[in-house]
Amino acid sequence: MVKGAKDCGFRVGIGYDIHSLVEGRPLVLGGITIPHGKGLLGHSDGDALLHSISDAILGAAGLGDIGTHFPDTDPAYRGADSAKLLGFVVELVAKEGWQVVNVDANVIAERPKLSPHFGEMRGRIAGIIGIPVGRVSVKARTSEGIGAIGRGNAISTHAVALITKAD
Ligand code: MG
Repeated sequence: MVKGAKDCGFRVGIGYDIHSLVEGRPLVLGGITIPHGKGLLGHSDGDALLHSISDAILGAAGLGDIGTHFPDTDPAYRGADSAKLLGFVVELVAKEGWQVVNVDANVIAERPKLSPHFGEMRGRIAGIIGIPVGRVSVKARTSEGIGAIGRGNAISTHAVALITKAD
């Protein structure tokens, strides 16, 4: 450790994910199902928002990423409920003595309009992590018509999480 550097007891982590939007799958995002003609392709339920939040929490604790803990080559995680994966992640960091302080996330999607679903998403995410809803933020942007996201063929997500040593 650098001489004089104090450990403030907090850690921050970042997460990113992107999934294709395809016909014939339900759109599961932020732990809820949103009416839309397409859904996110993935080995699991494809919930890119919960994946980036899970990676942010794991990253903050220095515990790798969800690919390390839940490999997509493992048939056990086929069609997996990403809410359960996030729950495992929270338990994993708790075993190391960490608790989540807050989460902030961006979803980049051309369609569908997500703002009407933010309240339900935040409530679900807060419930899975076990923190008050006021500590979970979800925001959305379009891709201004640019690229695969702009054509409505993919959704990407970014998240940051702050964790602290549990009391
Ligand atoms: Mg993913």
